Amino acid sequence: MSGVTQFRRKARIAISDIRLQGALEGATQKFRTGRTAALADLPDAGALRDHFKAIRQATIAQLADHLETFERNAQASGAQVHWAADGDEACRIITGIAQQHGVKLTTKSKSMTSEEIGLNDALADAGVEPVETDLGEWIVQLAGEPPSHIVGPALHKTRQQVAELLSKEAGKELDADDIPLLTAEARRMLRQKFLDAGLGISGANIGVAESGSIVLVTNEGNGRLVTSAPPVHIALMGIEKIAPTWDDAAVWLSLLARSATGQPLSVYTSVVTGPAKSDDIDGPQEVHIVLLDNGRSKLLNTPFEEVLQCIRCGACLNVCPVYRAAGGHSYGSHYSGPIGAVISPLLFGLEKHAALPQASTLCGACLDECPSRIDLPRMLLALRAEEVESGLIPLPERLLERAAARVMGNHRLLSAAGTGLRLGQIPLAQGETLNIPRRFNPAQDRRLPALPKKSFRQMWRDGDLDE
Ligand code: SF4
Repeated sequence: MSGVTQFRRKARIAISDIRLQGALEGATQKFRTGRTAALADLPDAGALRDHFKAIRQATIAQLADHLETFERNAQASGAQVHWAADGDEACRIITGIAQQHGVKLTTKSKSMTSEEIGLNDALADAGVEPVETDLGEWIVQLAGEPPSHIVGPALHKTRQQVAELLSKEAGKELDADDIPLLTAEARRMLRQKFLDAGLGISGANIGVAESGSIVLVTNEGNGRLVTSAPPVHIALMGIEKIAPTWDDAAVWLSLLARSATGQPLSVYTSVVTGPAKSDDIDGPQEVHIVLLDNGRSKLLNTPFEEVLQCIRCGACLNVCPVYRAAGGHSYGSHYSGPIGAVISPLLFGLEKHAALPQASTLCGACLDECPSRIDLPRMLLALRAEEVESGLIPLPERLLERAAARVMGNHRLLSAAGTGLRLGQIPLAQGETLNIPRRFNPAQDRRLPALPKKSFRQMWRDGDLDE
């Protein structure tokens, strides 16, 4: 089955799943409202976003220099820095460190980058049990599913489904209506994992070049336990997540949580600068930072360089009409929504993700929301153009588009087609909209407007447009 067919099949199933639709709308609406209120609290959110875009643009333009500064300063603080050209190399480095230390269990804090490279599978193959400790991420791990949202990995799950998964793990029946009990049980089960783990693996929201530090933002405090309880900590960071200075990182932080969850700042903002010092009461003896390329550097100096400004806040997902209806799993990539529709084809291959550039109405809502003002619609169009050039559009669509171009390029054909469609719509017309059968319009809440009785040409000819 082609990627295009797969996306459409999964999206159709998601759209007819009423429970999922409720979960998606509830969660994305909460994020949207929170973001609007949080940005309204700033004196001039628009100017701050402009400033942040300028910071990100300038940073990406000098990425190699900033990465070298980061490496130098991280090493000076005692961290070991590794460069991974692709996901396989990153997995080899991380599993190698785990094996070197005889690790059997590792705790992980939420990291989309580790999802991107399939790290959990690589760890399991190497005999290391990975345990996700962000609650949402742990829930999808227990369910054997990928995350369905960059920020809320389990937002597609109901309370009942979560209770079922946790009950199985706890070996006893847990009441789905008792949320404090569910979270207390999750905490009890995870606490032992934190104590037993020989290795903690985190992502990195930001790498600050001027001090060689990594910054982690979490809401559950699990990031702090992952990075401080085990004797060894590995941070996996995409090479684009660099802020040259702490001033730049401060702007980043002021927009990240506001755009993601509507919080002025995440509950925990943790900074790791090398391993524990002699007077620290805790902390790892070894810190490794794995800098992952995995296709990012090949985007530099291309029309897609701008996508490297992304800070993975997820705001574009929450406003996207396609994501909100189709849900994250339809995309067939760990990165979903508008950012996923651009970055998945760029990092993992246009052929593999041919459906995704089409999975957009090009309404521009993602551009309006993005804290880095990334022009995703422009890149979606550029990817569509590449698809046309490479013949990745399914044959029936290509034929249809060719026919449409022919009709629209010839006024006589266009006029005849208009007359035909006006007649053809009669059985479907209901007032000013068309009642399209569900099979062709699964999103029944949206109605296609009916063609007006007269075309613009006819109105012009008949003098209907005269005042
Ligand atoms: S593209 Fe913009 S809005 Fe979307 S995740 Fe990235 S930074 Fe956030």
